[in-house]
Amino acid sequence: MRRAIIIGGGLSGLSTAYYLQQEVARSRLDIETILIEKENRFGGCIVTDEVGDFIIEGGPDCFLAEKPWAIQLCEELGLGDRLLCTNEENRRVFILSSGKLHQLPEGFMLMVPTSITPFLKSSLISLPGKIRMAMDLFLPRKRTDEEESLAQFVKRRLGNEALEKIAEPLVAGIHAGTPETMSLSSTFPRFIQLEEEYRSLILGMLARGRKASEFNKKRSGPKKTMFMSLVDGMMELTDAIQGRLDEGSLLPDKKVVRINHIGKATTRDHSPYEVHLEDGEILEADSVVLATPTYITAELLQEMAGTLSEVLLLIPYVSTATISLVYRASEIHHPLDGFGFVIPRAERRKIMASTWTSVKFPHRSRPDSALLRAFVGGAHNEDLVDLDDEEMLKVVRGELMDIMGITAQPIITRIYRWDKSMPQYMLGHAERLSHLEEELLHYPGLYLTGCAYRGIGISDCIHEGQLTTEKVLKFLGRAGTKY
Ligand SMILES: Cc1cc2nc3c(=O)[nH]c(=O)nc-3n(C[C@H](O)[C@H](O)[C@H](O)COP(=O)(O)OP(=O)(O)OC[C@H]3O[C@@H](n4cnc5c(N)ncnc54)[C@H](O)[C@@H]3O)c2cc1C
Repeated sequence: MRRAIIIGGGLSGLSTAYYLQQEVARSRLDIETILIEKENRFGGCIVTDEVGDFIIEGGPDCFLAEKPWAIQLCEELGLGDRLLCTNEENRRVFILSSGKLHQLPEGFMLMVPTSITPFLKSSLISLPGKIRMAMDLFLPRKRTDEEESLAQFVKRRLGNEALEKIAEPLVAGIHAGTPETMSLSSTFPRFIQLEEEYRSLILGMLARGRKASEFNKKRSGPKKTMFMSLVDGMMELTDAIQGRLDEGSLLPDKKVVRINHIGKATTRDHSPYEVHLEDGEILEADSVVLATPTYITAELLQEMAGTLSEVLLLIPYVSTATISLVYRASEIHHPLDGFGFVIPRAERRKIMASTWTSVKFPHRSRPDSALLRAFVGGAHNEDLVDLDDEEMLKVVRGELMDIMGITAQPIITRIYRWDKSMPQYMLGHAERLSHLEEELLHYPGLYLTGCAYRGIGISDCIHEGQLTTEKVLKFLGRAGTKY
């Protein structure tokens, strides 16, 4: 029997363990899979709490339907009828500008306007800003191969105002990052493809939109919205994966402290590996998958793979916190007619965004209540994540009072801190990944997976799990590509 050990029981580790065990069972392979997690629960930053009648998400609250892997996995796990659309009646998003909330004009696809009338009527962008955005229709393609940051790209195609008011809070906000240092090719390669294919982002988005609506007309099956979730929250997914794993394969509450080659700790020619746990236990493995944040992975590999560790440390992370607040609906006088708002850095506020959860997913709250969620931290306000609970609530309530006029006392509050949880794909990210791949060649059977490499979203992590499974199976003697 050969053994694969996966370290880190967040979504990436769970997915890898799941696909490996499925394939092992299907092909009757003699491979044991073990998943080690340092906490006493699996799921990593996917946390859902039921508090009375409210479903409160601590981490992610939805995933993009466009990337197919999350929906496919939900269906495979029997969660097809648990998939939840967002409330399309109120699909508006607001952006704070000069202290006021302005609606992101209808027809915007991420940062690109695709519908003329709402764009022209919008109070968010000034007239010169609108003219500059419309110039995208005429501007030529980029002529060099030089890597661009998100900020450089948006300024070049759509202008400064689009960057400051839309791309920075809405697009860079997904990574809680800084557009000036974010690698466009590693975070939003889709924009590069659009420019290559259609020259203009606006024309490209329109063409893609037409294709998507033709496809949707022909498509049968349940309704889908741009963002999807699960009825009782995102933890339904991680719980379902965990439920499908062999019980004996799960090792919660076990912290890995080091990985070595068996025998001499520092020579490179030996496989298999030794996985050292904090309690002194040592597990042997033919293959090891690290699904931990890169700064932890670097620590675990430092003794055996110094260069690999150094490269891993070049991927920075930022911290965030989410704060959920339940109010009596009668005490909120601001209209709740959208999914929430995002805040550009230029507004100098202490929260990054707020989701109006009881509008986005109405059944997660009660009709007489409003469930709101605020985001704190990210690249520009990271130190706020360390505020104690009382101070944190004071800050968030102060911001909601200034922006939405909410003075009421919340009846329920929940705070979730996510220390160094958001990997930043900085300029040079692709080069760093190539360097990692080169270094990994020295360590056969050792693999890296997770949100720090090729996509930060839920669906990306699941896809990475599939690709990593392929690599492990190939290494352990079974070739073939399924994913
Ligand atoms: C606040 C927040 C909101 C988000 N919102 C969305 C969203 O709405 N939609 C979306 O698509 N994505 C969202 N994301 C991103 C997405 O949730 C994450 O990228 C994804 O869940 C990461 O999963 P992971 O398994 O790669 O990492 P993690 O969840 O970080 O898992 C890593 C695991 O490794 C374990 N570990 C660490 N050290 C050790 C050790 N020494 N030994 C053993 N185990 C160890 C940890 O305890 C953890 O369980 C959000 C992320 C955050 C933080």
